[in-house]
Amino acid sequence: MAQRLPTSNVVIIGVGAVGGVAALPLARAGLQVIGLEAGTRLTSRDFAPDELRNNVRGWPQAVQKANREVPTHRRSESTPYSPRQSIHPMMNAVVGTSLHYHGQRWRLNPWDFKVVSETARRYGSSRIPAGSTVEDWPFGLEELESYYDQVEYEVGVSGKAGNIGGTIDSGGNIFEGPRRREYPMPPLRGTGFTEHMAEAARGLGWHAFAGPAAINSQPYEGRPGCAYHGFCNRGGCHVDAKNSTAVSTIPKAQETGNFSVVTQAHVTTIEVDDEGRATGVTYLKDGQEYFQPAAVVLLASYIYENVRTLLLSKSRAFPNGLSNNHGQVGRHYFSHARARVAALFPWNLNKWYGAPAQGVAVDEWADDNFDHSDLDFIGGGILFVPTERRPISAAQMNTFGRAPRWGSSWKAFIKENADRWAGTSIQKTTLPYEDNYLDLDPTVTDPLGFPVCRITADFKDNERKIAAFVQDKMVEWFTAAGAIETVKASLGTMGPSTHAYGGTRMGDDPETNVVDRWGFSHEVGNLGILGASVMGTSGARNPTLTAQALAWRTAEYLAANRGTITG
Ligand SMILES: Cc1cc2nc3c(=O)[nH]c(=O)nc-3n(C[C@H](O)[C@H](O)[C@H](O)COP(=O)(O)OP(=O)(O)OC[C@H]3O[C@@H](n4cnc5c(N)ncnc54)[C@H](O)[C@@H]3O)c2cc1C
Ligand code: SF4
Repeated sequence: MAQRLPTSNVVIIGVGAVGGVAALPLARAGLQVIGLEAGTRLTSRDFAPDELRNNVRGWPQAVQKANREVPTHRRSESTPYSPRQSIHPMMNAVVGTSLHYHGQRWRLNPWDFKVVSETARRYGSSRIPAGSTVEDWPFGLEELESYYDQVEYEVGVSGKAGNIGGTIDSGGNIFEGPRRREYPMPPLRGTGFTEHMAEAARGLGWHAFAGPAAINSQPYEGRPGCAYHGFCNRGGCHVDAKNSTAVSTIPKAQETGNFSVVTQAHVTTIEVDDEGRATGVTYLKDGQEYFQPAAVVLLASYIYENVRTLLLSKSRAFPNGLSNNHGQVGRHYFSHARARVAALFPWNLNKWYGAPAQGVAVDEWADDNFDHSDLDFIGGGILFVPTERRPISAAQMNTFGRAPRWGSSWKAFIKENADRWAGTSIQKTTLPYEDNYLDLDPTVTDPLGFPVCRITADFKDNERKIAAFVQDKMVEWFTAAGAIETVKASLGTMGPSTHAYGGTRMGDDPETNVVDRWGFSHEVGNLGILGASVMGTSGARNPTLTAQALAWRTAEYLAANRGTITG
């Protein structure tokens, strides 16, 4: 029998990158908020600049709930399952995956909100790929701009603006939409290598700029600037210069006295009454079941768990899962296709320090920033070259056909070239398609006996054509910079991803979307859903800033419309 707890105004499931942001405007507005978080609290004392521990043995993910619920994957309904990953890319803690993420902080470009109408206007509607379920967002970039701005300042972002109120500054990204003001901090510093790459891009007539990062380039709100020490990739920051929610919005929300977090609370289901209104959340902690009643439930457990929790929350009102009477939960799923390119240079690049978010970007070949009239795809990718390098991954370098993969010749090759190669993973447009979706696995379960999430998805023609196109552009850039060899990796398929989207898409039409333009369920008025699961397009850039801006917007809407939402 679940122990019933006192009622709260709002309960947030998952205190990660987006749940940890939504708590702040709610707590500041005076609502009593409880965050239920499956993980524990980690602090800078728990982190170590240790590639073996972080990147090979997968700490802290290796000891996590997430690893016991890794989604299964198959390319299509008629293909066998892909081998199941042993380590989930995401993690559990009061901070979520913003603890060990890289911290790149991209806004979407204006086109990303209007893929359907802008494609139709410029090239004709026949250019939307067959089978794609892509829709325009219910609003444009201008609606999200103030939330982007607020999150950038509350969390702390380093960067250079390329468009302030319509005035273009070629020091930043000239393709970005208008923003109201500069970033709170200047960009992370460049290195000899990134400056050399920027120069090569300019030689090609492209605009190079420093990518924005949630890493302090100088002291910010009492936390120091980055030490550029080189173990930022899958590691927490031991000096708190990487701006996760654990060092920014979560402590600010707790300081109000209105936000409390229950750790190691594993939410199993969201409960509803006979009218189909959410009544609260059932969770397990230390073997005991609890029921946390709340006037409003916000689900923020990352896309796979958002979808799984809804599908597991069956009731008389929702026999196929919560908010799923239109059959839309799990639909319109997609993840970023990353097109990888590696290059070999004839000199040492001095990349033994720095952060993966410290790099140089080119946006010419993303979105609709170039003319697609004579091309057979829509969308594109952002070229980004980071500067970090670590010993184990350096030794795992491609040998570019110049040496065998083992033995003394291999060792001699690595010794000479470990600091002479650069790799990049190009983020590019992926669209949602009719036959790419998430559901519950019919046979694979977690230790509690609940089915894990199943991904049925693969990249389509449009994504493969973009990959080939942007890889060629990256080869052109590396070659202009003096690379003597380049190699392009194949695209692979759409297994569990750190950049996953859809499954609870946002839109005005309840027939094709789970949540409305404010992030609240079309079917359950007091259930809000946070995270990239509400995003209908990805653009060609990392999701977290956009997901956090949307979460802030949903929370602010809730605070302003509390009476209507709680009924
Ligand atoms: C190595 C790596 C690098 C990345 N780099 C970048 C980058 O440079 N830029 C970028 O924008 N994005 C990056 N990402 C992606 C980024 O981490 C995610 O976009 C972001 O963390 C998603 O936020 P979220 O709140 O939806 O999920 P999370 O941050 O993962 O938070 C979800 C929270 O929900 C909790 N939870 C889950 N299930 C339950 C349950 N049943 N009960 C209670 N709590 C639960 C989890 O414990 C977790 O704390 C990276 C990710 C990885 C892994
Ligand atoms: S590179 Fe900078 S932000 Fe990253 S862990 Fe080191 S000090 Fe922290």
